[in-house]
Amino acid sequence: MPFSEQNPKKPTQTARSGDRQLSYQETYICPICRHGQITGLTLMDAFACDFCRHIFTANLPEQSVQVVDSSQPMSWRWNGRNWQVAYQDDFNLTMMIWLIGVLLVGLPSAIVWLSAYTFPPLPGSPWAWFPMVWVGCTFLVHLVLVLWVMAEHYQLPWYVASKVRLRSLLGQR
Ligand SMILES: [Zn+2]
Repeated sequence: MPFSEQNPKKPTQTARSGDRQLSYQETYICPICRHGQITGLTLMDAFACDFCRHIFTANLPEQSVQVVDSSQPMSWRWNGRNWQVAYQDDFNLTMMIWLIGVLLVGLPSAIVWLSAYTFPPLPGSPWAWFPMVWVGCTFLVHLVLVLWVMAEHYQLPWYVASKVRLRSLLGQR
């Protein structure tokens, strides 16, 4: 019998056909911007993205990468086809950001609404619509602010990609 069919390594996770191992010789889609490709850096145990320029250190036995040049300590595990978020900073910071976000959106709008409610415009006055519009504007502006902080915190792929596009657009001028 020239070839025995036994498989020496019994993989714990079912390896499907088409799955690739994480190695420095191959390219993978960038886990941050989901737009560029990350390739192994020569002579270094690291990957770099050709689009967003983030650098990742790799842990080949664990098949995972961690971003090193970001304020967010994020890491991803390669499952053979795609990235899965393995670690995304501590729970307390995330809770704090959500709490501040809710307060930042809710509180100013509530104050503006309360003042409009306490001192209502004279009935029939041409500016009677103004307080409610002002409440709406206050809410929207703070909401945009909080959404921006969230996008930065979670490093959302579309946000990172558009940030890189904008930067390169401005740089080309
Ligand atoms: Zn990237």
